[in-house]
Amino acid sequence: MSLWQIIQRLLPYVRPYRRLVIATLLLTLVGSLAAQVNPYVLRYTVDTVQNMLNRGEGLAQGWRLLLGISAALLGKEIVNTFVQFGQKYYGEKIRISVSSTLAQEAVGKILGYRLGFFSDEGNQTGKLQTRIDRGVESLMKLVQNFFIDILPLFANAVVALVAMFVANRWVGLVALAILPLYFWLSYAQAEKLQGVRRGLQRLREEKNHGLISIIDSITVIKSFVREGYEADKQADTQARLTGAQLTTRKTNFRFDGLKTFVEQIGMVLIIILTAYLVLGGQMSIGAIMFHILLFNNVSAPIRQLHRIYDEMNEALTYSEGFFAILDAADAVETTGPLRPARVQGRFELRHVDFTYPSGTAALHDVSLTIEAGKTTALVGLSGAGKSTIINLLCKFYAPDQGDLLLDGQSLAAYDTHALRRQIGLVLQKNHIFKGTIEENIRYGDFTATQEQIEQAARQAYLHDQILDLPKGYQSDAQQLSGGQQQRIAIARLFLKNPPVIFLDEPTASLDAIATEQIKNSLDAIKQGRTVVIISHSLAQIVDSDCIHVMKKGRLVESGTHDELYERRGTYREIFDASARSLNIERLAKTMADDGDEVLDTAL
Ligand code: ADP
Repeated sequence: MSLWQIIQRLLPYVRPYRRLVIATLLLTLVGSLAAQVNPYVLRYTVDTVQNMLNRGEGLAQGWRLLLGISAALLGKEIVNTFVQFGQKYYGEKIRISVSSTLAQEAVGKILGYRLGFFSDEGNQTGKLQTRIDRGVESLMKLVQNFFIDILPLFANAVVALVAMFVANRWVGLVALAILPLYFWLSYAQAEKLQGVRRGLQRLREEKNHGLISIIDSITVIKSFVREGYEADKQADTQARLTGAQLTTRKTNFRFDGLKTFVEQIGMVLIIILTAYLVLGGQMSIGAIMFHILLFNNVSAPIRQLHRIYDEMNEALTYSEGFFAILDAADAVETTGPLRPARVQGRFELRHVDFTYPSGTAALHDVSLTIEAGKTTALVGLSGAGKSTIINLLCKFYAPDQGDLLLDGQSLAAYDTHALRRQIGLVLQKNHIFKGTIEENIRYGDFTATQEQIEQAARQAYLHDQILDLPKGYQSDAQQLSGGQQQRIAIARLFLKNPPVIFLDEPTASLDAIATEQIKNSLDAIKQGRTVVIISHSLAQIVDSDCIHVMKKGRLVESGTHDELYERRGTYREIFDASARSLNIERLAKTMADDGDEVLDTAL
């Protein structure tokens, strides 16, 4: 993106504050005029004192002068105080408002993007956050520089330069001659930093991402005693980051030194030239002070030039990444016009192929039907593509080929939000938000009353357990056991009350007791709905109306438990393996013995 394109992108965000921008600019212009008061007052003072000395006058005659200049300088300073306050406050207000709009827009956009966007390498948690933070920060500086700083800074320099030309054209020319050199040095400095900065951004993203992944995997790191290895990995990124930061600083210090030197040369030339003119009788002695201060007024804003140029380049680097987030139009979830009040829930996949954005081919030519109002199980080894089917049915991803139908209409034709309102999803581990149990259940329906929430908890067989907690429904939900958290997720679904339910290994992370306890909740939520269940637990699939068996992304068998068992195919293999892993024979023997004992006792 060019600077001009970025400014154009920013304009709509700044437009609501145009009055503030104009007010700030006016204030700053007043400030830049006020800044020229000092040279004039000091020249007048020096010249008048000189004349008084020449006339042999003393303090008795000088007090009027002192009073006059004190009033002028103080008056100017009072004006300046107001000007500076207004300028800084309004400037800050514009910057903060624009940046919060930008940040909010990024959040809004991201929420609307499809899941594939988040699995993209450049959009991992830490990286995305760095990109947004840096982007907003540098755009904020750009707003400050372009809409608030630049004009007054140059006005200040130009006013001072004109005053120098008016005083003497040679003095003006010396001041003017220094400027191109100064501009060139600033330009060279910024150019040198450009490449380093891109590297810096990449390294910062890497570092943030690394830190987040350490926190995420801390248990594994500790259990494998890989603290040293992880620290070394971070140290490498940190070392490259330090190197890049030091290069930036070194370049800056070198150029800053050169620029100060050039400025000083300008100052020396002006002093020599003015002293020559004063000694030649062409000027009064006050001119020395006058020219030095004016030159300072020329060079002070120019000194900021590098900062502005630098920050603009920074904005160029970071805003590209930021606007790429806002502009990821192809990541926006697609939607359709259909908004049925309540779907039947008959899903059909016809010759569906699907490949994840990462390139993993997950489904090949899958055709199957999920009947409305029935329970359908998806069975297969890990990685067979079961969850992928659910991902497609929720419209989290779109198939590469083939058709997905719901109640005879293409899934693509459904309004995505309307569709998801009709689907309840229970995963292996459901997200429990920070907050109370009540808030977490209410997530299913924000308008629910306390009674409805309790009713949902009752349906999920959770109500009595909640009442046993010291704080009841106000207890911290994240402190609950895995089984209780799963039941919160199910209670949430009772509130949402969707006609279609997808259960993706809902008990996989629970122990046997919790699994048994949750069975009632699951059986309750299945009533009168279309249910698709993925589970490794045979108990949960044998009763299904239909079982589809997946293998390596393909559908290999379909039927009821009995049919598939008799067929002696993949389902039978999985079933037998599960039975063996459970050591069914031994268990059966124990239970039979137990039965005999019971029988003996009874006899
Ligand atoms: P199952 O649910 O049967 O265990 P999945 O549908 O989760 O299998 O996965 C099928 C294949 O797709 C696997 O090879 C898996 O690695 C891959 N996969 C699953 N989710 C993603 C994802 N978000 N991005 C890329 N590949 C994925």
